[in-house]
Amino acid sequence: MPSHSPAASPAAHSVTSTAGPLTAALDIGGTKIAAALVAADGQVLARARRSTPQTTRAETVQAAVTACLAELADHSGWGYVRALGVCSAGPVDCAAGTVSPVNIPAWREYPLVKTLRQLPAAAGLHTVLCGDAVAMTAAEHRYGAAKGRVNALCMVVSTGVGAGLVLDGAVRPGPTGNAGHLGHVSVDLHGEVCPCGGRGCLERLASGGAITRHALAAGWLPPQGRTPATADVAGAARAGDPAALAAFDRAARALAAGIAGCATLLELEVAVLGGGVMSASDLLVPAVQRHLTRYAALPFARTEIRTAALGGDAGLVGAAALARPN
Ligand SMILES: [Zn+2]
Repeated sequence: MPSHSPAASPAAHSVTSTAGPLTAALDIGGTKIAAALVAADGQVLARARRSTPQTTRAETVQAAVTACLAELADHSGWGYVRALGVCSAGPVDCAAGTVSPVNIPAWREYPLVKTLRQLPAAAGLHTVLCGDAVAMTAAEHRYGAAKGRVNALCMVVSTGVGAGLVLDGAVRPGPTGNAGHLGHVSVDLHGEVCPCGGRGCLERLASGGAITRHALAAGWLPPQGRTPATADVAGAARAGDPAALAAFDRAARALAAGIAGCATLLELEVAVLGGGVMSASDLLVPAVQRHLTRYAALPFARTEIRTAALGGDAGLVGAAALARPN
């Protein structure tokens, strides 16, 4: 790993003098592993990326993470890095420093923080682990759609449904980093059994897969020759297909019920919706707002609904924000 002192690296000096100290960030998901150097203003200055190995060997997944960090350590700004923020698909146990991502079966209670601290590239860095939805929450609160808000819920609606909380002006991840996990709160007392063991979980109604499944069950005919995707359902809904529209409306109703419960409990100012399914925000946001008037009856629970501002970089930028020393 090259080492750059501030005096020996004029290019890096110009970066840090305008944007403050740099933070390294890792975003570990079931499809990809991303790493970045992030400036104090949230700007991503350098990136590395690998596909997540589909394997049962924990070491193979770790090798992809290690390669991302090693690539990043070649950047001229690396000598300024003092902290590493790591966000991972859940479940996570931030107290123990372990992760068990549902979509990375090779890692169960995997000691990620301990392993990272043993790498030459990350040795000596202040390392902070968080869940991916909590990282997104930190990014939206620091730089995005929840900026300046005292109480907020930030949701990732994607393959799964995750969420994080801002309370009294700070991100509140809870003792193990899982507070705010609205995807596994029941919004349907007699609903489907969820892989988590619960019943009627919000995720079973509002995830991308759930929307597609419900559209198919209601009679939507997908494009021939490939696996139907949520974007196909969205296209059909925009064209007026009643089954596709019903699937999105069902998801929006479930999201509204979940948000209304949180808003009534926590007096939210805003609920921010992000994640891949929000490429259909034109369909979802108006429907969530409409249903929210039904489920959030008390005036203080009528929270504002906003679309996330940071997109695919939210995990990296948020993990960096949580790790950066204040
Ligand atoms: Zn569940």
